[in-house]
Amino acid sequence: MKIAILPGDGIGTEIVAQAERVLGALDLRLETEHALVGGAAYEAHGHPLPPATLKLAQDADAVLFGAVGDWKYDTLERALRPEQAILGLRKNLGLFANFRPAICYEQLTHASSLKPELVAGLDILIIRELTGDIYFGQPRGRRASPDGAFKGSPEAFDTMRYARPEIERIAHVAFQAARKRGKRLTSVDKANVLETFQFWKDIVIEVHAQYPDVALDHMYVDNAAMQLVRAPKSFDVIVTGNMFGDILSDEAAMLTGSIGMLPSASLDAAGKGLYEPSHGSAPDIAGKNLANPLATILSAAMMLRYSLNQPAAADRIEAAVQQVLAAGLRTADIWSEGTAKVGTVEMGDAVVAALASASTANAKTTMTKG
Ligand code: NAD
Repeated sequence: MKIAILPGDGIGTEIVAQAERVLGALDLRLETEHALVGGAAYEAHGHPLPPATLKLAQDADAVLFGAVGDWKYDTLERALRPEQAILGLRKNLGLFANFRPAICYEQLTHASSLKPELVAGLDILIIRELTGDIYFGQPRGRRASPDGAFKGSPEAFDTMRYARPEIERIAHVAFQAARKRGKRLTSVDKANVLETFQFWKDIVIEVHAQYPDVALDHMYVDNAAMQLVRAPKSFDVIVTGNMFGDILSDEAAMLTGSIGMLPSASLDAAGKGLYEPSHGSAPDIAGKNLANPLATILSAAMMLRYSLNQPAAADRIEAAVQQVLAAGLRTADIWSEGTAKVGTVEMGDAVVAALASASTANAKTTMTKG
């Protein structure tokens, strides 16, 4: 199993290093290869996604990605900005389905801005379509002002567009994911106002005929935004378009207290994927051993489950994370009175130690049985 490791910028290198240690502590034969991406690649090669990095990602069975970006690149032309690397990887690898679980760990219920009873036991999955919608539709642009410059231009426009196969494939992915969980799917749209999302809704209803065991309901995006803070546990799986998914998945992330806890996966049609934490490169805390590595470690667990067919290893990582939280260890972003504040590396140490102690306990069990 070959994994392309793309740490990126800012805290990316720190958190990916911890996820690699965790992967190394499993008894799996994993081949890893590193490449530069984002601002780091721009500095070295003049492009955020150099051909060699893309090739490595294309040849691998899965990609583990840290984060990219820094304010210092904000003045670069758009095509050279670090964030373009993610868009390029999604496009070139055909990654169209973004999975963002929002799980509220029992020990962290107080970290949410909502009342503990609203989020205790929360476990929802947001599936966002990644390749269509207003982010990619053509035409788009800005009409030049009479003097030919963009400053003072009278109009700008983007096009919201979805093609039938794009909606069909994300609907299939969502129904299949719901089938493996609570068998409830909410399709979020804005069909009351937008033609594109009436089309979306019609197609989701058509695809539903193939999944009669999954209960489907539809919700307008404004209502979904409200329900996510009113009664988040009422959802199981949410499927939605690129822009609504972008916004709702960040909203759901905050229900759980810290963006530092949330993994994500972006999958292609064959299950190959790119795995990354939901947060960015956090330049404000980079290089200070302050970043929470758990979102990246949990992304590595998702990688084992969805792309590398190692569900038992994924379970082991998730159990080790639970154990570390139960022991009261917290990075600064999730720290509260009465818990022990640790840094990025120490959190990695603790997860590796929890894996090792679980292995020893298993070995003892095996020996006892034998
Ligand atoms: P961010 O997610 O990097 O940070 C937002 C806030 O959350 C900051 O206060 C940060 O310190 C904190 N934070 C984020 N991850 C954390 C972690 N693991 N542990 C503890 N605290 C954490 O978002 P931003 O500040 O808006 O963006 C910073 C840079 O990241 C920008 O250049 C942006 O474009 C880029 N970005 C990249 C990605 C990506 O690589 N997928 C995603 C979002 C933003």
